[in-house]
Amino acid sequence: LAEIVARDRDLPAQTQDGVAVTLQINAGLNIEHGVEHNGHYDGIGLYRTEIPFMMKDRFPTEAEQTDLYHQVLQSFGDLPVVMRTLDVGGDKPLPYFPLHEDNPFLGWRGIRLTLDHPEIFLVQARAMLAANVGRSNLKILLPMISSLEEVEEAARLLNQAYFEVRNELVQKQPGATLARPELGVMIEVPGILYQLEMIAPRVDFFSVGTNDLTQYLLAVDRNNPRVASLYEPYHPAVLRALMHIIEECHRLDRPVSVCGEFAGDPGGAMLLIAMGYRNLSMNSHNLDKVKWIIRNVHTSTLQVLLTQALKARHPSQVRRIVNNKLESLG
Ligand code: PEP
Ligand code: MG
Repeated sequence: LAEIVARDRDLPAQTQDGVAVTLQINAGLNIEHGVEHNGHYDGIGLYRTEIPFMMKDRFPTEAEQTDLYHQVLQSFGDLPVVMRTLDVGGDKPLPYFPLHEDNPFLGWRGIRLTLDHPEIFLVQARAMLAANVGRSNLKILLPMISSLEEVEEAARLLNQAYFEVRNELVQKQPGATLARPELGVMIEVPGILYQLEMIAPRVDFFSVGTNDLTQYLLAVDRNNPRVASLYEPYHPAVLRALMHIIEECHRLDRPVSVCGEFAGDPGGAMLLIAMGYRNLSMNSHNLDKVKWIIRNVHTSTLQVLLTQALKARHPSQVRRIVNNKLESLG
């Protein structure tokens, strides 16, 4: 089977009836060691910038960040690289920035922390923008957004960083131009599901984080083994939330991708494509499998699967339906 799967990896991610799906990878750790861009995927859908921060014993300087981000942007040529601003807190502590909270997942994490520390946000934003000088494959993504106010504040800081970097650039190279990266927001706090219409005019794209969306929608700690059986992306509530998001994004005419683990899960990928998602970002080790499935199904089969999955009343039933389909595909 591995050989059959490998045979398809150089071919486009397209269903049997010709529906193309953009496949990207999630990166963070691998980037420090250089990600090989082998042509099997379409860029980075999620670069978790907190990972290089977590591996240091102090905040990386602006120059260090610029070098690292530049290396990443450059190694992908024209392909997009979605860099997410620092998402620390929750399960991702920084050893040199200790936080003590009773409920860290409901506390000071992601955009909340960086908006309270605009100097951290601005240094990172400037580094990203400076790394994109002479290029235009950077996109910026904001984690843990729960209100329009946070988007507006982050956009204001990004704007400030943009003019600072541009002015410095023009002083060195008169007439030089600096690309303005697209701005996106993670859909991972459930409250955002009901604000998409308000937020859409302020952003260029959305990206669904199914890991946190599942955790917060079901109120289940994603890392607590005691409640691991309740952490269920196949839960009817999660499937309906994902349906709501794609319908809203179509209606509001905003591109949306999925970058949580569900996108790299073969059954999850099938359901997402049936719902209408056309951009999936995943850990690189899931890529070949997901591409193989896409190349070997017809979207009408996926539609039938989705209809059955949405009729199911228990996550276990959804899993059974999805696994039966996977088995029948071989
Ligand atoms: C997510 O929440 O689904 C996500 C992609 O982000 P992270 O796993 O880094 O929280
Ligand atoms: Mg998340």
